[in-house]
Amino acid sequence: MKRRTLLKRLALIAGIAAVPFKILRAEAATIKTLKRPFHPFKVGALELMVLTDGHIALSPVQPTFPNGSEQAEKALLQKHFRSTEAVDLSMNLLIIKKENDLILVDTGTGGNFGPASGWMLASMADAGISPETITHIVISHAHPDHVGGLLTKEGTPVFPHAQVHIARLEHEFWMAPQQDFSKSKFQDKKLLAAFTASTQTIFKTLQEKVHLFEHGAELLGCLRMELAPGHTPGHTLVHVYSGSEELVHVADLLHSDVLSFQHPEWGFNGDTNFELAMATRKKILANLTQGRQKTFGYHLPWPGIGHVRKQGEGYEWVAEAYAFPE
Ligand SMILES: [Zn+2]
Repeated sequence: MKRRTLLKRLALIAGIAAVPFKILRAEAATIKTLKRPFHPFKVGALELMVLTDGHIALSPVQPTFPNGSEQAEKALLQKHFRSTEAVDLSMNLLIIKKENDLILVDTGTGGNFGPASGWMLASMADAGISPETITHIVISHAHPDHVGGLLTKEGTPVFPHAQVHIARLEHEFWMAPQQDFSKSKFQDKKLLAAFTASTQTIFKTLQEKVHLFEHGAELLGCLRMELAPGHTPGHTLVHVYSGSEELVHVADLLHSDVLSFQHPEWGFNGDTNFELAMATRKKILANLTQGRQKTFGYHLPWPGIGHVRKQGEGYEWVAEAYAFPE
């Protein structure tokens, strides 16, 4: 081959090779500027949307699910092609639109758990929702990854026009001078005291806007509040209904879509009453299976929608599948 031809060919190859590099750079830029995801869907006549507040990785795994052996937990995670080093908890926020009401269930961490979470307001902005338009906030329970988003860093309300609904039982527990954590396996007293103090500050600041509900109550013509105690004393499942359709928001009943379902008895160290939470988890899982209930989990993999099925001695999470990203 003549030298000039060879150079030409090399230039051509170099030219072609340069193209994918350009594309790669463009793709990287696009990924960086990607919007936060949001997932719209319907329950009867209600319009719903899932937003993300980010995620929290719990590591190592075994002490988090204390009743299982490290070996058995790692083997089960491996069987499901999961990391054996951490269980990564989603934080799925549910928004419900009913006529003129815009209802938010739980509010994320408020950025108190590092940069991997606290994304609620960015997610809302990407979904075109302004915090001013939220009319009601329903709190499943008062842990900091659920109530942290109620106040700004400066301690003012994030949702200026929202009424805040929380179970009387839950509110009483956290606002009391002393909390009984003796039945929990989580014994970092300093951290528990810090959580309690921040929850008390939030509910004192918002006291004019706070409404206490009793379990069994119906709220706003589309929500039924069910007591599911153990994770906290007033831990609440939110049944979202319209016509003949219903979605059950199970909040913090389940923390891993693998471990908590196959072995609900392995427990969760963040439960306020470990044994009671375990009994509640087993009972509610059985209920969800029998009713073929559409289920939503705050900490289950994005967007947290699916069904529960019996699997051997335990249960199985069957995540909803989507034909296209909506
Ligand atoms: Zn939680």
